[in-house]
Amino acid sequence: MSHQVKTTVIGSYPTTINPLDLINAYFSQETPVSWQPMILEVVSDMIQAGIDIITDGQTRDPFIQLFTRKLAGCRVRARTEVIDKIEHIAPITLMDQLYLRSLIPKEMMIKGVLTGPYTLACSCVDMFYHDQQQMAIDFAYALHKEASVLQDHVDIISIDEPFFSQSMPEYAYDLIKIITNGISIPVVLHVCGDISGIVDKIIELPVDILSHEFKASPQLMTVFSEYSFSQKLCFGSVRSDDPTIESVDDITRHISKGIELFEDKIIHIAPDCGQRLLPRDNALKKLINLTVAGEQINAR
Ligand SMILES: [Zn+2]
Repeated sequence: MSHQVKTTVIGSYPTTINPLDLINAYFSQETPVSWQPMILEVVSDMIQAGIDIITDGQTRDPFIQLFTRKLAGCRVRARTEVIDKIEHIAPITLMDQLYLRSLIPKEMMIKGVLTGPYTLACSCVDMFYHDQQQMAIDFAYALHKEASVLQDHVDIISIDEPFFSQSMPEYAYDLIKIITNGISIPVVLHVCGDISGIVDKIIELPVDILSHEFKASPQLMTVFSEYSFSQKLCFGSVRSDDPTIESVDDITRHISKGIELFEDKIIHIAPDCGQRLLPRDNALKKLINLTVAGEQINAR
């Protein structure tokens, strides 16, 4: 049988979010309804492109505040300040996932996205723990609770840890283990950037799928091929940092190169990273070409 890949996206998608609306909503006990038009916009693009596994586009808030705004112990100002013990007191992203589910055809799958505990810890001002490791561990326990709630409503969960590519802590394994403990749906770890120097550590982490920027950092193919690893791959196939729309041929060639090296380990193809910073039209066209390339790969 020919090799089959599914198309997916990483976290964020361009939105028409207005910072003033955000502030007003925050002070007026916002209702989920105010976010629904933006989710609808994102989903209509993903449906139009024919993506198999979609996200809500993280429309509600930038990816740090999206979580810290709803966690006890966090106070959101220009940056989030941690002023007390971090605790998960109510679902954070669940409402958006339920709304998303109500919009999409049955066969489409949903990826719930969690901003990783290390990335959260590196992005907050610690006024309580005075210990980055302990703060990251408490973020991880909070995210575990969110993952436990989400797993009944989404098909797959992604932990996004962009900060691992800048400095990977010795306790990275513990953080990921805390989140995934007892989670029964597949878990992805997404780390963007050039992770060539930490691939040996990344492949030790207890997740099912590794998601990286193979398009912007094609040298990762060489590095990964030097190791044997148990995880499947989500293969970055179009750039997120460059609005140029890759041709279907270009994308197909790139994926074929990956499949030569990694064979059926490549189960997902995606943009390298979240597409938030691209013009919406370019983001959509990249997804359309990605889907066509995926269809060509699957038809071989
Ligand atoms: Zn990324």
